[in-house]
Formats: sequence, C-alpha cells, structure tokens
Amino acid sequence: MKIIFLGAPGAGKGTQAELVAAKAGIPTISTGVILREAIKNKTPLGVSAQSYIEKGQLVPDELVIDILTARLKESDCANGYILDGFPRTISQAEALDKMNITIDKVVNIYVPDEKIVERLAGRRSCGGCGATYHVVFNPSADGVHCTHCGKELTQRADDKPETIKERLRVYHEQTAPLEEFYRNRGILCDVVGQEELSETTALTMKALDLK
Ligand code: ADP
Ligand code: ADP
Ligand code: ZN
Repeated sequence: MKIIFLGAPGAGKGTQAELVAAKAGIPTISTGVILREAIKNKTPLGVSAQSYIEKGQLVPDELVIDILTARLKESDCANGYILDGFPRTISQAEALDKMNITIDKVVNIYVPDEKIVERLAGRRSCGGCGATYHVVFNPSADGVHCTHCGKELTQRADDKPETIKERLRVYHEQTAPLEEFYRNRGILCDVVGQEELSETTALTMKALDLK
C-alpha cells in the first residue's frame, strides 16, 4: 500500500500517518523529519534547506525530490509506505509519476485555517523519538517530557505565529492544487479533521479500509 497524507500544516498528517503506519506495518516517510534531522546534523542538505524552512517557505523541488528518491530505495519501503508532507507541489507529484510509483490512496485532511494556528502554536515534539504532542489537545504524561522515551519536549522553530501565517499562504498557493490533481485520478479521500484526535483516526481508518 502506498498512501499520501495531504493537508495544511498542522492538519494532523503526521499524527494520523504514525497510527496508520503502525496498523498497516509500513513506514512513514516525512520529508519534514528528514530535513530537520539534516539541519540538526549540519549536513550540506540541512545547510541548504534551513533558510527556507525558517521563513516558512518550501525547500526547492530538486532537493526534496532527491532526498525522497534516495529514501524510497531503502529496504523497508519494499512493501509500501506512507508519505507525510510529500508531494507539496505539482512538480513533486509529477516526480512520483516519473518514478513509476502508483499511489493507492491520498488522504486529504481538512482543518480550517483558524484552527491551524492553535494547533501549531501548541505543538510540541520529542527530539529523541520524534513523537508529537499538543499542550492542550494531546499532552504527554507529565506535560514536559516524552511519554515514550523520556526526553524533554521542544517547540519547532517554524511553529511561530508569523511563520505559521506564511506556511498557510504557501500551502494554499502551492500545495492545495494537489487536491484536484489526485481527485481527478479518483484516489482522493476527504477526511474532515475532528476536535477529538481519535475521531479523526476513525475516519482515516475508514477511508483506507483499515480497522
Ligand atoms: P508540517 O508538519 O507543519 O506540515 P513538515 O514537517 O511537513 O511541516 O515540513 C516542515 C517544513 O519543511 C516545511 O514548511 C517546508 O519548508 C519543508 N518541507 C517539508 N516537506 C517538503 C516538501 N515536500 N517540499 C518542500 N519543502 C518541504
Ligand atoms: P501535521 O503533520 O499535519 O503538521 P500534526 O500531526 O503534527 O500535523 O498535528 C499538529 C498539532 O495538532 C500537534 O500538536 C498534534 O498533537 C495536534 N493534533 C493532531 N490532531 C489533532 C486533533 N484531531 N485535534 C486536536 N489537535 C490535534
Ligand atoms: Zn520521545
């Protein structure tokens, strides 16, 4: 199974992708996670990507297409995968076509812009295992450390109000056209993001015929 999670920043792609990945036994590939890791390790890729991410803009297509192409060659991708945060432009979607990759389903999570700000402003991430929390909607056990691995939780540098606004603008301009792109292929499933995380999960599982 090859699945794409589409949706605005903060719509809940990463959260739902992890749950589906665990259920389906396939990996989640998040270009955002790969880029942040590269920035942390100060690799050439990280150095090139950092200024774009800090401004809330997309990293150039060639760079992300290269990292995704390399990642998909790894052995854990043999039985399928979930793409979280890729493609983000029509060119990136066309790159998947050029690689002869057939996507089975695209889950399009919809959350209105007004809700995105509170979701992203309250997002906290674990630098150890990558788990994602929310200070109000999905807090860790003690609110400060990761429930899974115990590391201290941090806030992403691009989850600041000014940057969030720019990321939303970029989403509507460059990523939202992918909805039509995949709807025309008959593989887009719309999921309306719910207040309750588990309700969004139920809708997502239903859209993917998973129980
Ligand atoms: P979010 O979870 O808020 O949607 P991500 O972790 O997916 O954010 O991405 C964080 C940032 O990394 C994006 O704002 C963008 O700058 C960069 N990025 C991630 N994936 C891509 C991509 N496919 N194309 C271009 N830039 C990307
Ligand atoms: P994305 O990967 O689309 O950027 P995330 O999965 O990181 O989004 O979710 C963004 C923030 O919203 C996180 O803090 C997450 O814990 C929280 N969140 C996710 N789903 C829900 C939901 N259904 N209701 C409220 N908050 C949610
Ligand atoms: Zn952790």
